[in-house]
Amino acid sequence: MSRRDYDLFVIGAGSGGVRAARMAAGFGAKVAIAEDRYMGGTCVNVGCVPKKLYVYASEFGKAFEDARGFGWDSSKPAFDWATLRDNKKTEISRLNGIYRKMLGGANAEVIDGRARLVDAHTVAVGDQHYSAEKILIATGGWPHIPVFPGSELAITSNEVFDLDTFPKRLVIVGGGYIAVEFAGIFNGLGSRVTQLYRGPLFLRGFDPDIRGHAAREIPKTGVDLRFEVNVESISKGPDGLELQLTDGSSLTADAVLYATGRAPHLESLGLAEAKVAVTEIGTIAVDSHFCTNVPSIFALGDVIGGMELTPIALAEGMSFARRQFGDLDQQVEYDFIPTAVFCQPNIGTVGFTEDEARARFGHIRLFKSYFRPMKHTISGRDEQTFMKLIVETATDRVVGIHMMGPDAGEIIQGMAIAMRAGATKAVFDSTIGIHPTAAEEFVTMR
Ligand code: FAD
Ligand code: NDP
Repeated sequence: MSRRDYDLFVIGAGSGGVRAARMAAGFGAKVAIAEDRYMGGTCVNVGCVPKKLYVYASEFGKAFEDARGFGWDSSKPAFDWATLRDNKKTEISRLNGIYRKMLGGANAEVIDGRARLVDAHTVAVGDQHYSAEKILIATGGWPHIPVFPGSELAITSNEVFDLDTFPKRLVIVGGGYIAVEFAGIFNGLGSRVTQLYRGPLFLRGFDPDIRGHAAREIPKTGVDLRFEVNVESISKGPDGLELQLTDGSSLTADAVLYATGRAPHLESLGLAEAKVAVTEIGTIAVDSHFCTNVPSIFALGDVIGGMELTPIALAEGMSFARRQFGDLDQQVEYDFIPTAVFCQPNIGTVGFTEDEARARFGHIRLFKSYFRPMKHTISGRDEQTFMKLIVETATDRVVGIHMMGPDAGEIIQGMAIAMRAGATKAVFDSTIGIHPTAAEEFVTMR
């Protein structure tokens, strides 16, 4: 029996913290979890879940248009922002309740409030101090906006879900996941969207063919996508927000969304008091078992950097709880992590990009396919699907799979299993396709 209040005190009830708390409690540990804002963290409240609901909402407009080619008279559909926003709120409140209940059901005590470290075994929430054998920091990330004249007028993904009025003209700054997804969302909902990216080609880190394909496809949907340009200043004008751009041009908008990355959420966390070290880029420094330089303090999820994705925070939470309180010591395997960008159409990817594969394996074989989805032969929509396989020549192993097309996120999940199992191109070739689908193209590329 521990002489302290808890075996484990978790700070942050997001994806990683909740998973670690529930599992540790399931192994019999006495667990508390502090949350100061919302149960379920970023993913549930201002991330994956509301984002995907808004993606669904944004795709109806084009679907109504597509339907005409199939004989449907879809007249003139109208969109109501307040209905979407408020239905989303109701659903998120339901999920918040489920998370609280799940933690209670697992016997993890929920403490509402902002937690800060006092020392290696003590956490304070308000005036109350709690002692714990182990402390887990799972405080996630927070949007980062660069400072420039008028930057305080910009909003982030935290605010964009709940705007009082629908932004008819929206400028989005950034070329990563959030910028690309929200350009698709608001364009689909009817905003005039301008997306500004500071470099020559957005989606840095993705396969070059995917980046090029996205740069061709996204403008076709109606997004005004501009490269090599940034914002110099934002000010309030008579007709909305006035933006001066680095190329000398200007824009007027109802809202300016900055999606320029996220920083670890460490504000008033007491890292210095507990002597917890951070890395050069400001993430919490941990070893391969999520232990910080203070042996009783651990950290995982977005706050330690790496790929900031919910399934990674979940896997880390699970690995941590099993090692510390269960009977399995299994490290998270970070190879071949599949990921999707929920733009129109979706991007799905797993494994190496072409450049990475070439650098690592030397000789590689590439298989590429561009085609019009069958649905759009009749809908009339001008959209191309792109698929790419990268194969290591020496072993015939498939080491990269990339797609931009409808349901790419759904398709790539299954591909990731094949890739992790070490499937060769010969295995892909001998797999019978499902016809007629887009996914069958992955087993028929020659
Ligand atoms: P979080 O989920 O951020 O949880 C941290 C929690 O800690 C928060 O609830 C916070 O309030 C709380 N907290 C912070 N400090 C304290 C404190 N001192 N005391 C008490 N509580 C504190 N990932 C995907 O895999 N797929 C997606 O489609 C996807 N879409 C996204 C869309 C957007 C707009 C954003 C912003 C992110 C998206 N992500 C997506 C990323 C995903 O949300 C994160 O990777 C994931 O939530 C990280 O989990 P976490 O547990 O590390 O942190
Ligand atoms: P990203 O790191 O993905 O992208 C940030 C973008 O902002 C990059 O294009 C970057 O450009 C640009 N940028 C950075 N600083 C500046 C600046 N000062 N001025 C102009 N542009 C700038 O971050 P996001 O905010 O889009 O998303 C955060 C993370 O959340 C993602 O990396 C992802 O892990 C996660 N997420 C996952 C999703 C999913 O799984 N579908 C969806 C949404 C988020 P450059 O490339 O030149 O550095």
